[in-house]
Amino acid sequence: MKTKAYREPTPASSRARAASRRELAAIAGTLSRAHRILAICHIAPDGDAIGSLLGMGWLLRALPPDPEGQRKTTLVCADGVPFQFQFLPGSGDILSEPPSQTWDAIVAVDSSDERRLGNSYRPGEYGSAPVIVLDHHVTNLNFGTLNYVDATAAATAQVIVDLADSLRAPIGSEAATCLLAGLVTDTLSFRTSNVTPKVMCVAARLMDQGANLYEITERALSQKPLNVMRLWGLALAGVRQERNVVWTLITREMRVQAGAPDTGDAGLASFLINANEAKVAAVFSEKADGQVEIGLRARNGLDVSRLALALGGGGHPQAAGCTLPGPLPDAVTRTLPLLFACSEA
Ligand code: 5GP
Ligand code: MN
Repeated sequence: MKTKAYREPTPASSRARAASRRELAAIAGTLSRAHRILAICHIAPDGDAIGSLLGMGWLLRALPPDPEGQRKTTLVCADGVPFQFQFLPGSGDILSEPPSQTWDAIVAVDSSDERRLGNSYRPGEYGSAPVIVLDHHVTNLNFGTLNYVDATAAATAQVIVDLADSLRAPIGSEAATCLLAGLVTDTLSFRTSNVTPKVMCVAARLMDQGANLYEITERALSQKPLNVMRLWGLALAGVRQERNVVWTLITREMRVQAGAPDTGDAGLASFLINANEAKVAAVFSEKADGQVEIGLRARNGLDVSRLALALGGGGHPQAAGCTLPGPLPDAVTRTLPLLFACSEA
């Protein structure tokens, strides 16, 4: 079989590229002048959300002090830091709730819409402080005052490397470790279709700055608690296929039986899309409050991001998600016809 030659993603027009470079320069200017910065990543955080948040924190700390005293960056994730990312340097400093104070700038990291930032994001309280959006989701709603969204970037961590260059901030080993964790987890260790030569160069640069690729891949991506494997076992026992769609359910009872943590599918959707029979894969996961988290995956050439966006979520063409009201059977009935249509597009 002849393999297809690699092609760079279609570049944005030079005018769009220049506009987006200006936006990034404006963001760098705003951050270097700000004293009190609040940075927030999305709920149910993945390695890119936590890695990008921490990486940005390290970069801002490495900048020369601002003229009127020490710049202070507060990092927040409403759902805290999942166990597999707690080895990342600085993860202990991430708060689940921001202190009540005024801010000079708010930064939303790896989040395509405001709802995804959870309860710790309260735009009504920010007065005139600008909201800065740093992201790589094609479905981003550009909800900030300043928005730098590069949908060709494999991870928001890659966007943060662009920010480092715009800030002329050195990338030390701590920042490099956090940012490489973002790249490794979002690309499933450089296996997704958005991995370009440029992505590999960014990864090599981060390794050069002291990030340990092997350790990061093991700890942030490969290793899982046995309870999560038990949960996968229960969910896989009920896997279904109809037409080109492969899907399964994670119920609250399964979580109790497996003794597994309360949210997320820990990568099960990425595993299901490997079924030969699947063009689209989905995991419907019941949360403690009865809402249903849906993880979606598609083979290269198909696009689940648009249907996730239509259901109030977002993501990338090959990996997207949304959260629907329960009960679980209703969420499945509502979504399946859309998945069939998407898989046959
Ligand atoms: P996962 O299935 O790994 O949780 O998510 C896959 C992709 O879809 C990620 O880029 C993630 O940020 C996005 N995603 C998952 N759930 C939601 C959601 O409820 N809202 C939005 N906006 N994006 C989501
Ligand atoms: Mn990401």
